[in-house]
Amino acid sequence: MSTPSRPDAARNASPFLLGGEAEAMAAVLLSGQYGHTDVTETFEKNVAAFLGVPETVAVTTGTAALHIALVAAGVGPGSEVVVPSLTFCATIQAILACGANPHFVDVNPDALCVEPEEILGALTRATTAVMPVLFGGRAIDLSSIADTLQERGIAVIEDAAHAFGSFRGDVRVGATGDLTCFSFGPIKNLTCGQGGMIVPRNAQEAQLARSLRGLGIVESQARRAVTTSYSVERFGFRQQMSSINAAIGNVQLANFDQAQADRKKLWRAYRATLADLSSVKLVDVDVDNSVPHLCVVRVPYREAVFEEMRARGIGVGVHYPPNHQQRAFSSWYRELPVTERIAGEIMSLPFHPHMSEDEAVGVVESLKESLAVAGAQR
Ligand SMILES: *Cc1c(COP(=O)(O)O)cnc(C)c1O
Repeated sequence: MSTPSRPDAARNASPFLLGGEAEAMAAVLLSGQYGHTDVTETFEKNVAAFLGVPETVAVTTGTAALHIALVAAGVGPGSEVVVPSLTFCATIQAILACGANPHFVDVNPDALCVEPEEILGALTRATTAVMPVLFGGRAIDLSSIADTLQERGIAVIEDAAHAFGSFRGDVRVGATGDLTCFSFGPIKNLTCGQGGMIVPRNAQEAQLARSLRGLGIVESQARRAVTTSYSVERFGFRQQMSSINAAIGNVQLANFDQAQADRKKLWRAYRATLADLSSVKLVDVDVDNSVPHLCVVRVPYREAVFEEMRARGIGVGVHYPPNHQQRAFSSWYRELPVTERIAGEIMSLPFHPHMSEDEAVGVVESLKESLAVAGAQR
């Protein structure tokens, strides 16, 4: 089986096979062991080694990783979690799943990430956690408020669903000491088909996260002990990562150098080409130290430009419709001027490793035409 090659700017994002994923999955299927197995544990060890951390905890999805991390950090009913509105709705649903209340905050329009001062201003007596979202792969440094958060017993839980492979200073995101969650969903920087991972802050938290993902059963007993019973220690979920997904992840990780190089190359092509368009602002990323995940631009008359791009067969998207304006989250609405303004400007250009640099140039060419048409309609 060979890697499919489908150069394509019609899609906004796409899973990318690096070669060998299908064979690895087939080997697991033929082995007859599909649950959490040694293959899953090998994946956990491989990711831990890649990040430079002692251990990781693999789960079914990124959303499950966030939910379990929140519970492990003691976030429960009635408590508040500070979170940017500009994120995938999964971040918010994980907070609601704990019975906690999201406290929405604004973002910096040039990075689409939350700033430390914004978090400080949102803390209340009910705050138990802050959840920065590493939008587009950008690392977030909260060290300037780390002491305050620690004194008040507030956990930092990073939603690093976009940021697998990125660096903060000298270490990878995940190895900074914060409780960190990754998604290995279909279109993420690294995919397991479906999957997620928690990087715990210490061995005790790791054990708690393992118990929480596995129905509260002590895992060594559940999997290995030759006894007639097992011990259920606490409330828990059924969210272990299947060996079928882990097998895909192991192959993706072994080839991650290529995936990250392709994303960086595509980013540089976009950045160079977009520099000619004065009315378009690329939400830039420190590409030397990050693995870019989304290519977001801010454009005038976004609705019309979006329609023109789609009419030209270009797979543009919007990441994301703000959560504080969603019906399901309206109880937690508060005014967020920056988010509300840029919500009408942001547009994500096609960005995935199936694309060539030439295609990025073609997308920007279409953007130029679309801007002209949309501008003339005004
Ligand atoms: C993808 C994503 C998630 C959820 O991950 P899943 O694996 O899809 O459950 C959470 N937060 C952000 C910012 C994401 O992009």
